[in-house]
Amino acid sequence: MDGQLKVRRKILIVEDEPINRKMLENIVKDNYDTIFAVDGVATIEMLREYSDEISLVLLDLMMPDMDGYEVLEFMKADKILKQIPVIVCTSEKDAEITCFKLGAVDFIAKPFSHPMVMRARIDRAIELREGRGLINATQNDSLTGLLSHDFFMEYSHFRDVHYKTSGMDAIVFNINRFHLINELQGRRAGDDVLIKIAESVKQIAKEKGGIAGRGGADEFLLYIPSGSDPEEMLKEIGSGLEYILNNSRVYLRMGIYKNVDMDITVEHRFDKARVACNSIRGNYNIQMAAYDDTMHKKEALDLRLVNDMEAGIKNRQFKIFYQPKYAIQGERDSLYSAEALVRWEHPELGLLRPDSFIPLFEDNGLIHKLDHYVWDEVSKQVGEWIVKYDIKIPVSVNVSRVDIGVPNLEEEIFTVVQNNWISPGMLNLEITESAYTENSDQIITVLKALRERGFAIEMDDFGTGYSSLNMITSIPLDILKLDMQFVKNIHEGNKDMKMVELMLDVARFLKVKVVAEGVETKEQYDLLKNAGCDVIQGFYFSMPCPPEEFEKLIEKENEELNAEVQEALNNG
Ligand code: C2E
Ligand code: CA
Ligand code: CA
Repeated sequence: MDGQLKVRRKILIVEDEPINRKMLENIVKDNYDTIFAVDGVATIEMLREYSDEISLVLLDLMMPDMDGYEVLEFMKADKILKQIPVIVCTSEKDAEITCFKLGAVDFIAKPFSHPMVMRARIDRAIELREGRGLINATQNDSLTGLLSHDFFMEYSHFRDVHYKTSGMDAIVFNINRFHLINELQGRRAGDDVLIKIAESVKQIAKEKGGIAGRGGADEFLLYIPSGSDPEEMLKEIGSGLEYILNNSRVYLRMGIYKNVDMDITVEHRFDKARVACNSIRGNYNIQMAAYDDTMHKKEALDLRLVNDMEAGIKNRQFKIFYQPKYAIQGERDSLYSAEALVRWEHPELGLLRPDSFIPLFEDNGLIHKLDHYVWDEVSKQVGEWIVKYDIKIPVSVNVSRVDIGVPNLEEEIFTVVQNNWISPGMLNLEITESAYTENSDQIITVLKALRERGFAIEMDDFGTGYSSLNMITSIPLDILKLDMQFVKNIHEGNKDMKMVELMLDVARFLKVKVVAEGVETKEQYDLLKNAGCDVIQGFYFSMPCPPEEFEKLIEKENEELNAEVQEALNNG
């Protein structure tokens, strides 16, 4: 706490007489900033708004409406406000004892006569309090100046007690994958985003007559009277953030527990808001969710999955399924490659699909560990197949957008393939299109480096991520994977078919191959084949299957190859 005197402290001067106000200001203004209140009610408001900044209150006792005694009483009853030292300024000699009892630390008699002495007493009162009460230091979050978690809860509780209101909303804001901002744009940019959001949250609290706080790393809390428009709040908080991040988007999410149950603790109310907030984690189309009771179950499950993940990897519960991709423009359809898709054989919960744990692990950064495991397992498997079948079937793995932020990713994946004695050309990398639009500069650098190492890049889910044509021409890539939502609805000449044709044109222009995903029917297959699509993946050929079953597909491919060779030989 020492060495802090360079920071100018703030004194709240409570005085209804203009002359006295001016005198007090003159006495302290060289060393302190001043704010003023002219009656008790205004004082309480000031205290609530600036509680975190006020170092001392100079309090007049005689005021209209609520007098100084009542202010003292109010402050004494408040765990936070009672930390602020109060010096009472009055001409009433008898008031002294009462005031001390009510928590005043000193007494200055009116009319003011010895400015230097007064200054010394004010300095002293502040020094004493700061030396004694380190609590103040933790009251506010040092980065954003917002109330820190515990004090926020405390304050919200006091708001309830003092205002006896009902109809409050508990709101939690969070940033999707905030750690990415830190990793990709630097800590400084991350801090700037937090500070900017804090300002907006504070502003909203002020406008609505509520309380704002910082819940943790990238979590913000608002406790406000019900009835505010969530969309508007989101807009206000989101404004200006792109500017900080050079036009990269920040995806905010908001969980709201409306009209809170006053019979549960404040913490519990915010738990519910947090559950709502997390229910839309990783969903980029929805930014706001209101709490309902089914959400609690989901949250508990997520927590469990996060806790079990480490053991899952250690005990090899994550299984890799392989789904074949067939080249369809040749004489016959030939096995071209495969996509590795992870599943989790959870000992108690059964077989889990990736959708139930991948977005969750992406949000907390655990995904990288899992993906690394998958890359390694797949490389091992590919190496075994090369030896066993003397055939080269490259396998694509999914690279999460979160992995892109990992330093030296190209080195890491290269080491994986090297350690498994396969070439980078045997491990293709699928990256979803929306990752490109979120952070184009970074991703282009990383993908270039990966391609230089010999990896082929596939743009996954193409058509869903809104890349501009301009952007797509500058992205290093080898294969486009049409998203299955287009394939699902194609019919001769309909809108989706036209979209697919358009995307095939883009691919031809870029000179890259096209894989169509999610092909289930003969009709879809025929349409895509006629339109010139190179490769097809989907239930039409096979579901994703365990390695033993995929081996049968390799064997079949080998037989057909051999038959072809034989026929060629026979035909001389
Ligand atoms: P994705 O990369 O788009 O994978 C294709 C998904 O479509 C797979 O779902 C696959 O089983 C499914 N699919 C394949 N053919 C058809 C079809 O004909 N019809 C329909 N309706 N669906 C089909 P899955 O296996 O549930 O994986 C879901 C998503 O999870 C994947 O979408 C991918 O984004 C992610 N994922 C899977 N494995 C990994 C992994 O190891 N790492 C990472 N980061 N993500 C993974
Ligand atoms: Ca994929
Ligand atoms: Ca896909």
